[in-house]
Amino acid sequence: MSNQSPHFIKKIMFTKKMKKDYTILSPMMCPIHFRLLRPVFQRVGYKVDIMENEGPDVIQKGLKYVHNDICYPCSLITGQMLATMESGKYDPNKVAMIITQSGGGCRDSNYINLMRKAFERAGYPNVPFISANTWNMEYAPGIFLSPLTLLSAAAALVYGDALTLVSNQVRPYEVKKGATDELLNEWIEILGRGFSRGKGYTVSAMKKTVSEICRTFSEIKVKKVDKVKVAVIGELYLKYSVPGNNHLEEFLTEQDCEYFIPTVLGFGAYKTNGALEDLRTYGGHPIKRLIMEAVMKYYFFIEDLLISGIEKWPMFTAPERVNDLKKRAEGIIDTTNSMGEGWYLAAEMLELAEHGYENIICVQPFGCLPCHVAVKGMQNVVRRVNPKINSVDIEYDPGATKVNQENRIKLMLAVARENLQKETENKGE
Ligand code: SF4
Repeated sequence: MSNQSPHFIKKIMFTKKMKKDYTILSPMMCPIHFRLLRPVFQRVGYKVDIMENEGPDVIQKGLKYVHNDICYPCSLITGQMLATMESGKYDPNKVAMIITQSGGGCRDSNYINLMRKAFERAGYPNVPFISANTWNMEYAPGIFLSPLTLLSAAAALVYGDALTLVSNQVRPYEVKKGATDELLNEWIEILGRGFSRGKGYTVSAMKKTVSEICRTFSEIKVKKVDKVKVAVIGELYLKYSVPGNNHLEEFLTEQDCEYFIPTVLGFGAYKTNGALEDLRTYGGHPIKRLIMEAVMKYYFFIEDLLISGIEKWPMFTAPERVNDLKKRAEGIIDTTNSMGEGWYLAAEMLELAEHGYENIICVQPFGCLPCHVAVKGMQNVVRRVNPKINSVDIEYDPGATKVNQENRIKLMLAVARENLQKETENKGE
């Protein structure tokens, strides 16, 4: 037995004093949402920057300091962080790192400690790490978010989801190339300015803005032709992150597809619902339960606000509410299966296929347990419920090549195009 004493990683807290001088760096996950969240936090005095660096050097940095056994998002994000530290853009003694953590039994709950360890080994032992989560993990005394800031952050998610949903449904059909992205950028500017002035978070503002977003996008001139419709589901980070999924959205646009990416709010509601179910089943502090119940209620409320707002515009497909999705999952997968994306994935496949997005790409890190169980393991089951589902699982890891990933997607799209042609012919008969 080794007589070496165990090595504990130093946990550097983000303190109140650091708030003034430190820049908080976040890896880019959802480009639209994060651009909206930034002014929310800047308004209350946090200097926040988003890291968008990518490429082979970035991932190699991650692999140097994180065991290659760990999930791809962890090595990629660690690489992004370390490459940013070495870029010279920031004073290494005046930065803090923030990551989102969905909590629960998945390895994601340990990412932050693995990153601390990587930073220590890379020569940056004093960088504080902050975790953004709803599970009360990782206390940071320098982070205090007033109810108003939290409401503004929730509003940023509502707007981010609304903009993502409608712009993705207009862009493939726009007559003037670039019109959708022009309007999208305009909205991000307008909403960002509003958040900087402490506006846009009330219920009435959210209802009005979601409706205005839908109206303005519905006015973009489009040419409606039949296109292959694809849904992108899977592991949270890869689903949204451009470096994570190797520019999947760009690729689908090049392939002349319409694509649907599920909402961030939906995932948040699913996750909070899971945490609450755990508390009800296994017990827990009554105060924690009360807080989670209040968070859950608010999630359901804003989810309904977003979905009802979009449903008023028949040209747009709105996502289903998490409670309805849960009913879809019942009977095919146990709804206590809430590790990672759990039952939510099978339910999403059925939901999206019913709304016309029966061609499904499931993005998953190599060896991701929840994706293997809840997607690969559920393929035959969901196809029995809806035989039109044409899906492919795409795995991402440092060794996977973009060419290989795209070729596999192209095979799925070839089947999708054949199916679309048959449908068009049948309609013409
Ligand atoms: S969901 Fe998959 S990729 Fe994410 S932490 Fe869990 S196992 Fe890793």
